[in-house]
Amino acid sequence: MELKDKVVVITGGAGGLGLAMAHDFAAQGAKLALIDVDQTKLEQACADLGASTEVQGYALDITDEEDVVAGFNFIREDFGHINVLVNNAGILRDGLMVKAKEGKVTDRMSYEQFQSVINVNLTGTFLCGREAAAVMIETNQPGVIINISSLAKAGNMGQSNYSASKAGVAAMAVGWAKELARYNIRAAAVAPGVIATEMTAAMKPEALERLEKMVPVGRLGEAQEIASTVRFIIENDYVNGRVFEIDGGIRL
Ligand code: NAD
Repeated sequence: MELKDKVVVITGGAGGLGLAMAHDFAAQGAKLALIDVDQTKLEQACADLGASTEVQGYALDITDEEDVVAGFNFIREDFGHINVLVNNAGILRDGLMVKAKEGKVTDRMSYEQFQSVINVNLTGTFLCGREAAAVMIETNQPGVIINISSLAKAGNMGQSNYSASKAGVAAMAVGWAKELARYNIRAAAVAPGVIATEMTAAMKPEALERLEKMVPVGRLGEAQEIASTVRFIIENDYVNGRVFEIDGGIRL
């Protein structure tokens, strides 16, 4: 699918990887519908992108089913249809499942800490995927849905919540590839390694340095390297149901 004049929805489109994708796709002539919970960042992103393409921001929380349904209805009204959804919005709330000292448990990951990450990363991805597919089918458009997973899908210490959500979004993309091909909709996932964004800037510097040393290519990834991978998936009509690990070889 060529991006020129296609309608692309990006969740979490006002920050980090989402914003890098928005700029990359705008340069190819795509029209953009950006969803983000952070209204200030969203307005800034739309103002910046507005010089190069047609762009609309939708300030909503992807964990809220009513807001998601309404948001996709607005996008359909504003643009007429949807061709691409990038399910990119995600959060981290790391912590050990249990912490103990001298045989005594001193801390637990709270239910709220677990569930909040599942709600945004997994449930939000499901809701947006469902609504985007419904619009693609009803408007008879070819479509592509890409879920942003993570290298954490393999299971990371201190990331019960995040790892489970990222394994989940990768699996959902594979399921959607099988389920939606009959409607001319493809699906895939991208599992980035450690990429330099606000999300990683919030990590402890010593943890980040340790991670960087584990990457065979010797550096963090760039947001643009994820954007160009997502673009490759969109542009290549024979890509379907695969999870692309873009991580500098960290898992080798
Ligand atoms: P980021 O924090 O810079 O951006 C995420 C965006 O999502 C923000 O603009 C935020 O406002 C938005 N968002 C958060 N909760 C939301 C909600 N409930 N509803 C709507 N929008 C919401 O993060 P990033 O580094 O750009 O990460 C983007 C995606 O890539 C995430 O899913 C993340 O898990 C994944 N990822 C990032 C890395 C990395 O190293 N940066 C690695 C692997 C995977």
